[in-house]
Amino acid sequence: MEHTEKTEVRSFTTSGPPPYPMPEPNATYATGPALAPQTVYVQAPAPGTMLSAEPVMMTCPHCSQQIQTRVVYESGALTWLLVGGSLLIGCWLGCCLIPTCIDACKDAVHTCPNCKNFIGKYKRL
Ligand SMILES: [Zn+2]
Repeated sequence: MEHTEKTEVRSFTTSGPPPYPMPEPNATYATGPALAPQTVYVQAPAPGTMLSAEPVMMTCPHCSQQIQTRVVYESGALTWLLVGGSLLIGCWLGCCLIPTCIDACKDAVHTCPNCKNFIGKYKRL
């Protein structure tokens, strides 16, 4: 009896191309916009923009100095709207003038403490 071990070596080599194309791992990376380093220096904003109700640090467009704006509050549209609203509600006895005393509902007028020039106005409405 001749004993010959037949070792069947079945080659599972995938000769053909895979049915589904493998996605390239590199291609799936979402390449967002390049992270530009944030510029720290403050450019003089256009009047009316970048202003808030609080004093802001900025470069004065008039004297080009790094200043903190000086804010003066004056009655704006919202103030008088609240006055009108108070009148409608029925606050006749001077209560309607309360909004004119509240800075929070007033427009903020930004001026430069250095050159005293008008920079911009922050409007509530
Ligand atoms: Zn100035």
